[in-house]
Amino acid sequence: MNKQISFDPSCQDDSDPTSLPVDAAWERIQTDIQPVAGVERLNVRQSLGRVLAEDIRSTVDVPAHDNSAMDGYALRAADLPASGTAALRLVGTALAGRPFHGTVAAGECVRIMTGAPMPPGSDTVVIQEQAEADGNSVRIGADHKPGQNVRRAGEDLQLGQTVFSAGTRVGPAELGMLGSLGLVEIGVYRRLRVAYFSTGDELQSAGTQLEAGQIYDSNRYTLHAVLQRLGVDVTDMGVVPDEPAAMETAFRDAAGFADAVITSGGVSVGEADFVKDILEQLGEVSFWKIAMRPGRPLAFGRIGSARFFGLPGNPVSVVATWYQFVQPALRRMMGQKLERPLSFRVRTLDRLRKRPGRTEFQRGILKRQPDGELVVRTTGSQGSGILNSVSRANCFIVVPHDSGAIAAGEYVDVQPFEGVMGN
Ligand code: AMP
Ligand code: MG
Repeated sequence: MNKQISFDPSCQDDSDPTSLPVDAAWERIQTDIQPVAGVERLNVRQSLGRVLAEDIRSTVDVPAHDNSAMDGYALRAADLPASGTAALRLVGTALAGRPFHGTVAAGECVRIMTGAPMPPGSDTVVIQEQAEADGNSVRIGADHKPGQNVRRAGEDLQLGQTVFSAGTRVGPAELGMLGSLGLVEIGVYRRLRVAYFSTGDELQSAGTQLEAGQIYDSNRYTLHAVLQRLGVDVTDMGVVPDEPAAMETAFRDAAGFADAVITSGGVSVGEADFVKDILEQLGEVSFWKIAMRPGRPLAFGRIGSARFFGLPGNPVSVVATWYQFVQPALRRMMGQKLERPLSFRVRTLDRLRKRPGRTEFQRGILKRQPDGELVVRTTGSQGSGILNSVSRANCFIVVPHDSGAIAAGEYVDVQPFEGVMGN
């Protein structure tokens, strides 16, 4: 008779006291990692995705002059009628790029278009929908405010103001602002060089037939995608078999040219030891286990002058460790100021399974309820091999270290996957 034993090896060492809590691991990265040396001057447009190596100060007021926010008539506030209507004499036109050169005197107005400089003497714009033009006479009613519909010089950026400090990553909004300052070239950190490879005798590349026990390598695709998006120079070094000599050669090669070396697989119990031995010969390893799930075995250290990130082999663990630690660390190396991922609190509609003693990054789906409340649901099974849980998700649900299971209806922290402006 077969005796059924329920045994989940991954749960055995859940409260492993040698595991580093997520916050402590974060602190270590923060203190250990510095931006790479090397700054270059680039044309503003080419700086998208790069990190500023210098403070940017405004050399102009933006906008450069008071201008109209609407199409209408520029006039003196003193001519606005307190009640009834007033008739003003039309004396000219001001267009964006073609100012009106005269002065607006009492009882006069100028036809003005959005973006046109306010003519001297005028300080208020009445929009065209609220004015009645008849030849050279413009009739306006009451209920207007002095100074309305005028954009002030320097209201966006003031001359001499620090617009961005060093360490800011240039995204679409920053690029637009750099453009508005009229800058041609700016100083940015040089591009980071990152090499990555997968380890595992079972891994095959696309285009080959799978033999028994083999699987296709997905981690190199995931890493390719996230590294491309980050905007670094990437070198894909392929699959390296679980052999010490091959591994050592790969580590040496990668560390010879890369600022950072990322591997997946070979850091779990049983496989870890020989990878660890090699790394200890070639460099140093900082920590081997983080109290998180998925992604507990995560190695971090250096080989020569290169930083090393040894990710677990499980595809979901790769995603979780990438977002929580590797991407922030690489951003720091790229010169960026370090920031924890954005999170906010919403109610979970599902019960979430969880054991105390590790931070969990469960996959969730954020959705707006018909009543307008933003809530989260779990994607279901949280196995670290189930990569489709990540593609169906749009956020991590972060369940803290000491927390047990979370009841439906409780509030939880979520980290959305996508940043709005793509910085
Ligand atoms: P390891 O960390 O090497 O023990 O691998 C843990 C699990 O992840 C095993 O089931 C591996 O087959 C799987 N795995 C490792 N590397 C990859 C990869 N590059 N692509 C897909 N699955 C992988
Ligand atoms: Mg392996």
